[in-house]
Amino acid sequence: MQHAVNKNDVLEITIEDIGSEGEGIGKYQGYTLFVKDTVVGDVALVKVMKTGKTYGYARLMELKRPSEYRVTPRCPIAAQCGGCQIQHMDYQKQLEYKENKVKNCLTRIGGFQDFVMEPIVGMEEPYYYRNKSQFPVGKKKDGSLSIGFYAGRTHSIIDTEHCYIGAKVNVDIIRFLREFIIKYHIEPYDEETNQGLLRHILTRVGYHTGEIMVCLVMNGKDMPHKEELIQGLQMIPGMKSICLNINKSNTNVILGDKVVPLWGEPYITDSIGGILYRISPLSFYQVNPEQTKKLYDLALDYADLHGEEVVWDLYCGIGTISLFLAQKAKQVYGVEIIPQAIEDAKVNAKINDITNAEFFVGAAEEVLPRKYKEEKIKADVIVVDPPRKGCEQSLLDTIITMAPEKVVYVSCDPATLARDLKYLCERGFELKKVRAVDQFGHSVHVETCVLLTRKICRAITLK
Ligand code: SAH
Repeated sequence: MQHAVNKNDVLEITIEDIGSEGEGIGKYQGYTLFVKDTVVGDVALVKVMKTGKTYGYARLMELKRPSEYRVTPRCPIAAQCGGCQIQHMDYQKQLEYKENKVKNCLTRIGGFQDFVMEPIVGMEEPYYYRNKSQFPVGKKKDGSLSIGFYAGRTHSIIDTEHCYIGAKVNVDIIRFLREFIIKYHIEPYDEETNQGLLRHILTRVGYHTGEIMVCLVMNGKDMPHKEELIQGLQMIPGMKSICLNINKSNTNVILGDKVVPLWGEPYITDSIGGILYRISPLSFYQVNPEQTKKLYDLALDYADLHGEEVVWDLYCGIGTISLFLAQKAKQVYGVEIIPQAIEDAKVNAKINDITNAEFFVGAAEEVLPRKYKEEKIKADVIVVDPPRKGCEQSLLDTIITMAPEKVVYVSCDPATLARDLKYLCERGFELKKVRAVDQFGHSVHVETCVLLTRKICRAITLK
């Protein structure tokens, strides 16, 4: 079909919707245009950059009338930085957008019509919430040092030391490291040539304990002037762990497999809801502690345990949800693919005196069917918290065969969530309730917790 929009056209449109990456969506004579950095309600002059059959992309030229939902981002580099996609949108509007994103996926992909959607759980203060930050280290065009964050969709580094969603103490850490790198001529890593020494600075900060970890990712075995490095970092109150991570591969995966402790413990400890968690540099740990507590409380609430249940926590990481559940269940089994995380999970059970949680290393889609077949283990409740790609179909088949009373699905991707829920609900489960939790304020990502129950097959009783 012919459309009236061509490349380089400059058009006035009204932004009516938001796409899955936070970009504004408007129409010109029925033709859809995606425009980055716009907000629902903006009237904008845009320049068409690329056109396809049914939609195209345009760039914001001038705001004719700014939307009432537009706010000035606190962070001066919010528009360029790849970390926050929607800091220019009023936080309440962000929450509405995320809730709708989940709702739309469940309707469009999952085919669900009437379901209970509880109101999204937002943050009280959506700033300085991340307990983990990763700063790439590189050089500017003039050869000077650059430490900061990647610009959206590229690997060019925006030089900064203040991130408005990271821990405040990062400013002191980066300021010291900047001086250290310059003083001792530590060569920043160059992605193009795979040369240079220092690739990334990873920091982790315990929300309740204030314990700090600094891990320097190296394209080499060692760091020169270690003593000066340790001496300087040690001065920062809360410093608990200083280590190197060795990554000599020519990829954009941030961390390598090997960790070399330099000073302090090779981990930090934090707590959620009174349970202590030991966190190593390589282990997965939710990035927003305040919201994680709310998310886990919600999962526990949906599981509705009374002390007699056998619960499986699949994709358990360092056993975070498992140990939460263990307080209310008879027995919890956790399954996780990363051996180091399972080591942490076992230690975590121990330091909290939790004896009714057992952990297995392996892929959930292999461990669960094996345990079911060989040991006839059962499940009253199954909790899953998979990565973005969702669950393997074979795992869903095992869940269907095991027929637990409840499935609690924690998801960081509403599209794969909707796909998996559709599969389960076509095979014996019922969607009971859904609630989104904002774990990632100012980004387009959203976490969701869902309760499914097994459909009860009512036997016909003859009188
Ligand atoms: N529930 C945990 C971790 C969730 S993140 C928490 O809240 O902290 C998802 C976890 O799934 C990661 O730790 C990842 O290593 C693990 N994982 C990825 N694929 C897996 C698979 N096929 N089987 C088991 N675990 C897997």
